[in-house]
Amino acid sequence: MSTKRDYYEILGVGKSATAEEIKKAYRKVAIQFHPDKNPGDKEAEEKFKEAAEAYEVLSDQEKRAQYDRFGHSRPGGRGFSSHEMNMEDIFSQFGDIFGGGSPFDGFFGGGGSRSRQRKGSNLRIKLKLTLEEVANGVEKKIKVHRLVKADGVTFKSCQTCGGTGQVRKVVNTMLGQMVSTTTCPTCGGAGQMVDQRPPGVDSSGLQSKEEQISIKIPAGVADGMQLSMSGKGNDAPGGGIPGDLLILIEEKEDKVLKRDGNNVIYDLHLNFVDAALGTSVEIPSIGGKVRIKIDPGTQSGKMLRLRGKGIKDINGYGSGDQLIYINVWVPKKLSADEKSKLESLRESPHFQPQPDGQEKGFFERMKEYFS
Ligand SMILES: [Zn+2]
Repeated sequence: MSTKRDYYEILGVGKSATAEEIKKAYRKVAIQFHPDKNPGDKEAEEKFKEAAEAYEVLSDQEKRAQYDRFGHSRPGGRGFSSHEMNMEDIFSQFGDIFGGGSPFDGFFGGGGSRSRQRKGSNLRIKLKLTLEEVANGVEKKIKVHRLVKADGVTFKSCQTCGGTGQVRKVVNTMLGQMVSTTTCPTCGGAGQMVDQRPPGVDSSGLQSKEEQISIKIPAGVADGMQLSMSGKGNDAPGGGIPGDLLILIEEKEDKVLKRDGNNVIYDLHLNFVDAALGTSVEIPSIGGKVRIKIDPGTQSGKMLRLRGKGIKDINGYGSGDQLIYINVWVPKKLSADEKSKLESLRESPHFQPQPDGQEKGFFERMKEYFS
């Protein structure tokens, strides 16, 4: 079963629409979903292609008549689009739709030809970062293998287009014969082809070369984020603009400090004597150790907060905190002497649990954490 939408519906016209009405409707839809107006929008691109296909059929008297009779399933089992229309086809169709010197030229700003400009392929790398590097940002020098234009390559003029990079074709439209220009399919618009090449150079005249690239990683990136450096990818074969370098961020797990958003969490284990008498301890934190004070009578589960000692926000909204969870350690092994000392304390009134509402239970601690 075909799930294709009705061509008339796609263009927003009735079954009895005239050729001129169809053309007008297609212009409107094409402008609305044009990729230059909706960069990176997959849905818009699909609508754009859908509309082009609808127009291809409805603008052709014979195809339209067949479509009206049989719908999407044409006798012989073939659909109407003998091929998936690509952007190239669609832009070349624009030669007829918008014509030379039409008011739309300004709007598209040469969009058709800009989309046709050759771009090198993107390079992808993974970059592993420590928590420290994530927290403060870092500049990394890394080696990449880029495809770059090679020396010693000789070129010959493309036979298909005679070196212009463009081919002209005469199209019959309802307005009469029109000449439309499209990118040469043989050389891809470069106008020339590689003739002789030294060993190690590929058929498009490119060669792999190791390069050192300096990458500035902003503070606050996270595992799975992708950064992009424009123009640092592979060169375009035969001229054009280089592709981009895409950097996938991976975080190395830190054994001591755990990340939670922009906060870092540290579990501090205190023996119950320190918790009862108070002390000061050195703990790890981003940027080195810090000394913190433990008040006498500190309970297990208490959370201490070091404001601003977390990870810098990637959008510049300040920094997270370091959260320190107190875990009071109860000894598992005791000597006979230790046992008797503790035994003498067992019945002391101070050793009887007396929660006075100040000690925080689980729920209170959660509230404190999210405050
Ligand atoms: Zn050519």
